[in-house]
Amino acid sequence: MRRPLRIVLLGPPGSGKGTQAHIISELYGVPVITTGDILREAVAKATEYGRIADGYMSHGELVPDKIVNGVVGERLSKSDLENGFILDGFPRSTPQAEFLDSFLEEHGLKLDYVIHVTLDDEAIVKRLSNRRSCPNCGEVYHLVSKPPNKKGVCNKCGYELVLRDDDRPDVIRNRLVVYREKTQPLLDRYMEKGLIKEVPGDYQMDRLPEQLKKVLG
Ligand code: AMP
Repeated sequence: MRRPLRIVLLGPPGSGKGTQAHIISELYGVPVITTGDILREAVAKATEYGRIADGYMSHGELVPDKIVNGVVGERLSKSDLENGFILDGFPRSTPQAEFLDSFLEEHGLKLDYVIHVTLDDEAIVKRLSNRRSCPNCGEVYHLVSKPPNKKGVCNKCGYELVLRDDDRPDVIRNRLVVYREKTQPLLDRYMEKGLIKEVPGDYQMDRLPEQLKKVLG
């Protein structure tokens, strides 16, 4: 039996973390935990913490650590993670990284890799402002590189596609500032632990699985 794989994906918004997370998930049969999706679902359902998160998310700010740590702690305690997990979008701040460290230590677990997905700001703004998302099933499209079959409509469920509030150029710029201030410092932390593997965010899509296999051994 394969040993469990525990991975964190770190990188600026729009760098392609989600794409890489899902490829790794398919290659190794490990579930992806995407904090952005969990929070968006809470916002859509207008739960108590969803209502709080909404104000932060629509401005490109980080949702408070206490809320996000609570959500992730709950998810990590579920029983479907015996093969490991891929954290997409968590941790994004030092208190979140500290929370993850203590959670893992308490449970006698260790991270195997932190994949740093790299992409320059110009490419990020271009990519995110062309992104269209399905508010119903979460499927993501790109107007140039991955357009839907029918303009403005989700291939999977037929819902009308939207530009996420936080994919507007002004909010994207703020998300990049926040990334640099709060998340980028985590690279040093994981570098010291010898966990970092770099993968370019603009790697050719059809060669990505092969590249990720190489990186993950
Ligand atoms: P994403 O889809 O990963 O770009 O996340 C969208 C938004 O959700 C972010 O801009 C934040 O407002 C919020 N978010 C997602 N993950 C986190 C996190 N780990 N900590 C705080 N806020 C988060």
